[in-house]
Amino acid sequence: MSGGPRQGRAARVVVAIDGPAGSGKSSVSRASARILGFDYQDSGAAYRALAWFALENGIDTADAEAVIASLPAFDYEIGIDPDDYFVRVGAVDVTHAIRDPRISAVVSLVARVPVVRAHLVDLFRTVIERSARPGIITEGRDITTVVCPGADIRILLTASEEARMVRRSAELPSESAAAVAEKLSSRDAQDSRVVDFMNAAEGVTTLDSTDLDFDQTVQAVVALVAPPVE
Ligand code: C5P
Repeated sequence: MSGGPRQGRAARVVVAIDGPAGSGKSSVSRASARILGFDYQDSGAAYRALAWFALENGIDTADAEAVIASLPAFDYEIGIDPDDYFVRVGAVDVTHAIRDPRISAVVSLVARVPVVRAHLVDLFRTVIERSARPGIITEGRDITTVVCPGADIRILLTASEEARMVRRSAELPSESAAAVAEKLSSRDAQDSRVVDFMNAAEGVTTLDSTDLDFDQTVQAVVALVAPPVE
C-alpha cells in the first residue's frame, strides 16, 4: 500500500467510513469523532459544494469539461472540528445550501468526473494531513478504497434500503416518503456506477446499522476505533 496519508504520521489515527446515502454515516461519524476527541471530515460536502458552485456560476453540471474548467476557481473550506462544522466556498457559507434537494439532484453528475475526483481526493488527503488532533474520521463513498486504503480502521456502514429511506425521510419532512425514496435510490444507482460502496473491500469491517439505534451505532464505531480495555 503506498501513498497513504498516514506515512510518516504514525501517531495519528486515521478512520475511514463509507456507506450509501441514508446510512447515517455523517451524523454517526461526527458523534463518534466528538467522543474520541478526533476531527471529522465530511467528503460528500466537497462534491456538494462544487455542485453548488457550478449552479451558482451558471455552469451546466452535466458538462464535464465546464465543471473541470471551474476547479481552479473553486475555493473550498470545511470545518473539521465536530463541534464547529461549516462549509464555505470563497466568502459564502454554504453549510445549509448544499443540503438542498436541488444540489442532491445534480451532485452525482459532478462526482462522476474522474478529474474532479482526483482533485478532491488530493484535497481530502491534505485535510487529513493538517489535522492536529490524535485522529480523524473521514466519511464518504471511496474513503476505505481510494482516499485512505491504508487507514488504521476502515468501516462500511450499511443499513437495509428500507431503514435508509425511513431515516432520510425523517430528515426531509417537506417531501413525501415516496419522493425521498425515489431520489435516494436513483442517486445511489448513479453513484455506484463510479465507486462501489455497497460491498466491503478486503479488510474493511461491515457495520450493519439496520437494527441499531443512533447511539448503538456510534458506540459500535467507537468500539472499533478504541476497543474497550479487558
Ligand atoms: O455523503 P453525501 O450524500 O453528502 O454525498 C453527496 C454526493 O457526493 C454523493 O451522492 C456522491 O455523488 C458524492 N460523493 C462521492 N464520493 C465521496 C463522497 C461523496 O462521490 N467520497
